[in-house]
Amino acid sequence: MATSLKKSKETFRELARAVVRGDRRAASRALTFIVEESAGFEDLLRAFFPYGGRAHIVGLTGPPGSGKSTLLSRLICGYRLRGLKVGALAVDPSSVFSGGALLGDRIRMQQHALDSEVFIRSLAARDAVGGLPSNIFGAIHVLEAFGCGIIFLETVGAGQDEVAVAKAADTVVLVTVPSLGDEIQAIKAGTMEIGDLFVVNKADLAQKDRAIRDLQSALSLGQVERGWKPPVLATVAVEDTGTEAAIEQIEKHRRYLKSSGEWKHRRRAQVLEELTLAMARRIYRRSRNRIREKHLEALVDKRTDPVALSKKLLKK
Ligand code: GDP
Repeated sequence: MATSLKKSKETFRELARAVVRGDRRAASRALTFIVEESAGFEDLLRAFFPYGGRAHIVGLTGPPGSGKSTLLSRLICGYRLRGLKVGALAVDPSSVFSGGALLGDRIRMQQHALDSEVFIRSLAARDAVGGLPSNIFGAIHVLEAFGCGIIFLETVGAGQDEVAVAKAADTVVLVTVPSLGDEIQAIKAGTMEIGDLFVVNKADLAQKDRAIRDLQSALSLGQVERGWKPPVLATVAVEDTGTEAAIEQIEKHRRYLKSSGEWKHRRRAQVLEELTLAMARRIYRRSRNRIREKHLEALVDKRTDPVALSKKLLKK
């Protein structure tokens, strides 16, 4: 078990080397270690950071029930056929609304459980800063070290998590479904800009053409000078229709990122986020360590307030 790991830096580097050799159990241990933030995990994070930037990170987001995990499962099959090792991290916003959906994910994902070249994990966003779980980059780097050429980040589009995924991804796929109402409503305002690819899933349902048209016109309205024009695709994930076209567009976007230099831009944005998360984690821990029983009592008795006290404690 991960907890039995000896906490020396050498052991961590050895573990990283085993992961690089493709040792699945080592990758699993490293992930557990990072996800649980077991003692010494920061050394492990350091050992894996050098492998960052190797994989194509693809965010998959959209409202609950839109078929993200069904589509993800199809995409994983598609990429496996292309010979790539595939990673998938489900970012669980720990919301009561997502409980059912995530259980669904796990059941659907079982078909990949026997494939040694596919790695799927759930990450909790309980301690999320700005919507991303603080350990997300660590988990990504373990999968990169393991040799995953593509890593999917699946998030439920419930507010800021949806936008946050863009901070960790190279390519963002926004999934939506045809609906009777205003299609744009389903993809909340402020979210359109983060999409590099729009997928109208459940294209077997009525209203699909309208959904596609609405999306296209919304996109053309918001079109600024951008070298990439986000395509709108239709899929029927349950029937595996449209998966190949989606993969082609994801690959096209990857080529665009590389040829335009945008890839570097996104890497910079990612390390900015990674550094901020690492700093936030330290500050959080340091803050907790400074709080004494007497401070809590002072607050309960209303002798001071959290704003004043936090300023005082952090001044030290
Ligand atoms: P998620 O919550 O976005 O991950 O959605 P799921 O993948 O769990 O799918 C929600 C439900 O929609 C499931 O019952 C799927 O079988 C169904 N579903 C997924 N894709 C399609 C599709 O293309 N057409 C139809 N009609 N149903 C779909």
